[in-house]
Amino acid sequence: MIVVIKKDKDPKQVDSLINWIKGLGLGVHVSEGENSTVLGLIGDTSKVDIGLVRTLDIVESVTRVQEPYKNANRKFHPADTVIDVGGHKFGGGSFQIIAGPCSVESERQIIEVAQAVKRAGATILRGGAFKPRTSPYAFQGLGVDGLKLLKKAKQETGMPIISEIMSEEHIDDFEGVDILQVGARNMQNFDLLKRLGRLKTPVLLKRGLAATIEEWLMSAEYIMSEGNPNVILCERGIRTYETYTRNTLDISAIPILKERTHLPVIVDPSHASGLSRLVPPLSLASVGAGADGLMIEVHNDPVHALCDGAQSLRPDQFDGMVKAIDMMLPAVGKHRDDK
Ligand code: PEP
Ligand code: MN
Repeated sequence: MIVVIKKDKDPKQVDSLINWIKGLGLGVHVSEGENSTVLGLIGDTSKVDIGLVRTLDIVESVTRVQEPYKNANRKFHPADTVIDVGGHKFGGGSFQIIAGPCSVESERQIIEVAQAVKRAGATILRGGAFKPRTSPYAFQGLGVDGLKLLKKAKQETGMPIISEIMSEEHIDDFEGVDILQVGARNMQNFDLLKRLGRLKTPVLLKRGLAATIEEWLMSAEYIMSEGNPNVILCERGIRTYETYTRNTLDISAIPILKERTHLPVIVDPSHASGLSRLVPPLSLASVGAGADGLMIEVHNDPVHALCDGAQSLRPDQFDGMVKAIDMMLPAVGKHRDDK
C-alpha cells in the first residue's frame, strides 16, 4: 500500500501516522521527495482500513498494490487448484459440465432429466430444492423432499449432485450432496460462508447480482480463511441496463479471474441470459474465454417447468450443445474426463 502525504505537512503529524502504521505490525518505507513524502507500507496490509487512511487530513492519496484476498490469490499459489468431485476434476485443464433442472419437481422429472443429461455427457447433476425466488408467492422448491429426490437420482445414475443451500439451518439435510451451491443472492451472506468454510465439501460460489470481481473473491476468502480450500467460482451474469437478456454475461470476468486466482471458474449461461436459445452460443464463448466448466439448466418439458422454463434446454438441444463443446475443447487445451 502506498500512502502519499500532502505537501508541506507537519513532520510531527507524519511521524504519528508512521507510528500508528507500525503499531499495526507493518513496516514503513519513507521516501522524501521534493514535492511530497511517500510511505510504502510493508507486510500484510489486508487488515488496514484504506477508507480510514484516506480521510486523514495529511493524506493526499492511498493506493493498494496488494490485493486484499490472500488464500484465493494466484500470487501466493501459482498452480491451479484442482477440485475432485467423485472422480470428476474441476481446474488444471479438466472441464466439467453440470446439468439438470432449475428445480427438482418430482421423482420422475429428476430421474428422467438425470438420465438424459448423463447420456449426453454431463458429469454432475444439478437440482434446486430450496429456491431463492423474487416473489414469496412463486414456487419455493420442494425443500428437504427435493433433496431426497435428488439423492435418489444420484443413486440411480451414479452422478454426483449439486444443490443450493440458502441457510445454515439446513446443513444436515445436505449430507450426501457433493457440491454446496451458494446462490447469487447469498454471495455476501457472510455467516453462511463462514459456516461452509468449516466443512470440506466443495462450494460453488456464484457471483452476486451486482458484485465486483474483488467482492466476489473476498467472499471466496471468507470460505477459504475458515479452512475450506474447495471453492469453485461461477459467473452467472450481472445486472446491467440491458433488458433483452435477464442479466449480462461478463465474459471478461473469466480471463481476469484466471489471472487473479487459482480457483476453478465455471459459467452458468442459463441464468446469465434467461433465454434457452442463447445458452449454446454463450457456452461456446465461455469455453473460448477459458472457463473450467459450465452449469446448464435442462428440463424434460421446459414449457411446463415450475421455474426457469424459458432458459432451460430440452435434452436433445443439450446433447447437440455438448457435441459442439467437445469439438472446441482441444482448441483451448482442455479435456473432459474421458477424452
Ligand atoms: C440457480 O442456479 O438455481 C440460481 C438460483 O442461480 P442464481 O443464484 O445465479 O440466480
Ligand atoms: Mn434457475
